[in-house]
Amino acid sequence: MIKKNDKRTWQDTSKVLELIKHAGKNIAIITHVNPDGDAIGSSLGLKKVFHNMGHSCSVISPNTFPDFLKWMPGSNTILIYNEEPEKAAHIIKHSDIIISVDFNTLKRVEQFRDAVERSLAYKLLIDHHPDPDLFSDCSISDTSLSSTAEIIYQFIASSGLKKFMDTDVAICLFTGIITDTGCFSYNSSERNTYDVVAELLDYNINKDKIYYLLYDNFSCNRMRLLGYSLNEKMEIIPECRTALIWLTREELQRYHYQIGDSEGFVNYPLSIEGIRFSAFFIEREDHIKISFRSKGNFAVNRFAEKYFNGGGHMNASGAESYDTMDKTLRHFREMLFLNKDSLVDYEI
Ligand code: 5GP
Ligand code: MN
Repeated sequence: MIKKNDKRTWQDTSKVLELIKHAGKNIAIITHVNPDGDAIGSSLGLKKVFHNMGHSCSVISPNTFPDFLKWMPGSNTILIYNEEPEKAAHIIKHSDIIISVDFNTLKRVEQFRDAVERSLAYKLLIDHHPDPDLFSDCSISDTSLSSTAEIIYQFIASSGLKKFMDTDVAICLFTGIITDTGCFSYNSSERNTYDVVAELLDYNINKDKIYYLLYDNFSCNRMRLLGYSLNEKMEIIPECRTALIWLTREELQRYHYQIGDSEGFVNYPLSIEGIRFSAFFIEREDHIKISFRSKGNFAVNRFAEKYFNGGGHMNASGAESYDTMDKTLRHFREMLFLNKDSLVDYEI
């Protein structure tokens, strides 16, 4: 039975440090389905540190990741579970240590959850989502920090591992921080985030180039799909200060959709005056992927948990629906109106 642990925890890591003291360990770093910049950046940064220490380390993702992250150092070594399940399962089975990065429940690794649960490896969690399930031997879980990448830097620095840092590690961790803070527009009001960024800049990373590779490098199809979504598919519900956008598979095909093309679409409606809740629904092969974003004190992780069995952060959460698009949208509208009052008076 998995129990919930509500506290921010930075448990004693001496057992992990003892395990990695001598080179030659097999380490698997696993991250969540539909990995984002923080998931990939944190995983690859940590992998490079372990590589520099002389360990054998693999990063495993449940599914593929967007092209706009494929320039990251080491990204071509990531094992995609649903493409090479046997190879990935073999690595998980033979790992000495499994590190779960950027997620708080094993549900988020989907198909290889069983393999992780069965493994006898020592398990470490490094994450910044609230309410982590207790599936690890040791947890470094801190919802007060901007990103998992920031926690990883603090783990490296506080464990005496800075001598194994290099420019690649700094690029990966910097990417995690800027993608999880929307380039410092949210989750980034604490000084410690900027202290970490300052230290990362010391590794001669090209900050402007990283920004360009992440945000000024989209396909033309993606830009046109964004135009279509905002112009023809965005619905405003002023009485709930809410905007929603939904895209069907047929629409995606029309715009030659590639995974990652709709990344960030959910944020646009929040820049409309008075809108404080934005919802985005996109039809995938066998389910509908939902993203929620909010401004101020409306907790979209609670909304996602309560009505869609999802989760995430207070202002950024997500879920999956196995109903049709029509049913999912109807359920969303009903639940939205139930919460109308808390959406109307709001503070930033
Ligand atoms: P996104 O909308 O970018 O996919 O996700 C936003 C946030 O919600 C991320 O922190 C992500 O980890 C979390 N999230 C997204 N989808 C799900 C889901 O299906 N279940 C849970 N528990 N969290 C999710
Ligand atoms: Mn994150």
